[in-house]
Amino acid sequence: MTQSVPQTAAGAGHIREIVERILSANSLPPIVQAGHPALRQRAADFDGQLTEDQLGRLIGIMRQVMHEAPGVGLAAPQLGIPLRLAVLEDQYGIDPAAAALRNRSPLDFLAILNPRYTPLGQGHAAFYEGCLSLNGLQAVVARPESVMLEFLTPDGAAQRREFSGWQARIVQHETDHLDGILYIDRAQLRSLSSNAEYAAHWAEAGISKAREGLGFDDGPAGISLG
Ligand code: ZN
Repeated sequence: MTQSVPQTAAGAGHIREIVERILSANSLPPIVQAGHPALRQRAADFDGQLTEDQLGRLIGIMRQVMHEAPGVGLAAPQLGIPLRLAVLEDQYGIDPAAAALRNRSPLDFLAILNPRYTPLGQGHAAFYEGCLSLNGLQAVVARPESVMLEFLTPDGAAQRREFSGWQARIVQHETDHLDGILYIDRAQLRSLSSNAEYAAHWAEAGISKAREGLGFDDGPAGISLG
């Protein structure tokens, strides 16, 4: 699947221009939606295209946009910036029973550059997930339960960190954005629901009711994890 994803053609100058426009605006930038080319291309590795000050301010804006949405992650391509940068943070209080079933625990704010993940072990978990760039929809995605993430921090330090449960899902979803992959590429398409239909019929911590009612499988079979 990833072989057919084009690499962004944006050079350092173009990336800087897009970011400077966002930094000088008086309002928060909109989140671009599926169909925008930045969401379907491999983003450029960060290699100093932005100054330390620009990078810091951009990360601050991404965090605000993520909070406002609200969401638990945002990748730079979602602001139309083809750069391998994402922010993650999961502090939203949710029902403890649902949190337990999803293995969801709070994730402190984290900005990652040039991330790459590798699945750890064979375990997969299947849950409904949504995306701020596919407004109003959700679908079931089976993903590796644990991953090792290699990334750079904004001050340039190389890190390796293990994530599991819902945190691993967020990490994979955001890193996928930087590879031009949307969650629907990995989803059980028969599970696709509008937020309203999900709330009316399938809103529960697990997916067994939806699996029966909509007729889909939740295994990782057929899912390309490349
Ligand atoms: Zn997304």
